[in-house]
Amino acid sequence: MNIPFCDLARVYEARKTIIDEAVHRVLASGKYILGEEGKAFEQEFATFLGGGFAAGCANGTEAITLALWALGLKPGQKVIVPALTAVPTAAAVVLAGGIPVFADVDINTGLLDPAALDPNILKSVTGIIAVHLFGQTCDMRALKQLATDHKLWLLEDCAQAHGATQHSKIAGTFGDIAAFSFYPTKNLGAFGDAGLVYSTNEDLIEQVHKLRNYGESSRFNNEIYGINSRLDEMQAAILRGRLPSLARDNKRRQQLARIYLEILQYSNVESLDILPGNEHVYHLFVVRHPQRDRLMEELAAEGIGTSIHYPLPVPAQPAYRKYGYAPGKYPAADQLCREIFSLPLYPELTEEEIAMVGEILIRKAEELNNSNT
Ligand SMILES: *Cc1c(COP(=O)(O)O)cnc(C)c1O
Repeated sequence: MNIPFCDLARVYEARKTIIDEAVHRVLASGKYILGEEGKAFEQEFATFLGGGFAAGCANGTEAITLALWALGLKPGQKVIVPALTAVPTAAAVVLAGGIPVFADVDINTGLLDPAALDPNILKSVTGIIAVHLFGQTCDMRALKQLATDHKLWLLEDCAQAHGATQHSKIAGTFGDIAAFSFYPTKNLGAFGDAGLVYSTNEDLIEQVHKLRNYGESSRFNNEIYGINSRLDEMQAAILRGRLPSLARDNKRRQQLARIYLEILQYSNVESLDILPGNEHVYHLFVVRHPQRDRLMEELAAEGIGTSIHYPLPVPAQPAYRKYGYAPGKYPAADQLCREIFSLPLYPELTEEEIAMVGEILIRKAEELNNSNT
């Protein structure tokens, strides 16, 4: 058997006509940076989110940084970041000049835990980054209430949650501003790097349009400081081609995830909980097992690729220890990082492949269990 954790060549094969057409259209256009494709994608993606405004940019990390600048983050200001997330969430805060203040996650979902945000922590920060990790939305009612009570802004990191909803409201529309990544493996992926900032506040997005292009409000008119973080026309055209099938791709992920969930039901391999009212888009299918490393080795021996998201809480990473890490400070993130791993799940896999992975997983878990007793 050969089921890689991720297979981007399969992604291209399945959509070859649309992608080739987009690439050739841009090549022939003579316009490669800040043209019609980027503008059209911004509009189409904002429409996908139900209206509002969008600014394309170079990647998801800089989408967060640009959003923080647009919100007015000043050097040295503190920002809540979940202890369990992709490192770029925290990297973007540091790049923006801020200081990440890590908060623990819920042990059952892996999502930022509103109960971990005590009033003393909230008094010291200017805003909260809610990361919709693995494909489901954080408890946004609780986080919005905390943000309102403490006069904080709320930024959504939607890099893993394109199209996820909570009580039918789509991820990216709960907070003041949202950041998306279109890294090739995301639910909506480019064939290179790409990102986007979204908001219903037009002023914030106008600010991002300047910040991403040297701070220019018009050519050679640098009103404010800015960087180069543009979305190029080739990636924008590819993303326009893929956006119409995002909802269908997400449905397919859900369909495949249901097969895993059914098989796991009667096993000692646990999946993570889904919050009430959430429609999960399964960017990743994450499971938990106390002998995670052994189980991953057994699956690898059967030709099944798995991966860990993530092996360490961000504050425990060497580059981030200076932000106040101490063993035991983030117990849920620590424990999850010891036990979780991700199974292959992408729309191009077949039901049979998923069922085979699931069956082998529970058989191996049972064997491990028996050899322990
Ligand atoms: C992928 C990802 C990012 C960063 O996106 P890039 O496009 O790789 O810079 C940020 N946050 C989360 C949660 C991610 O998964």
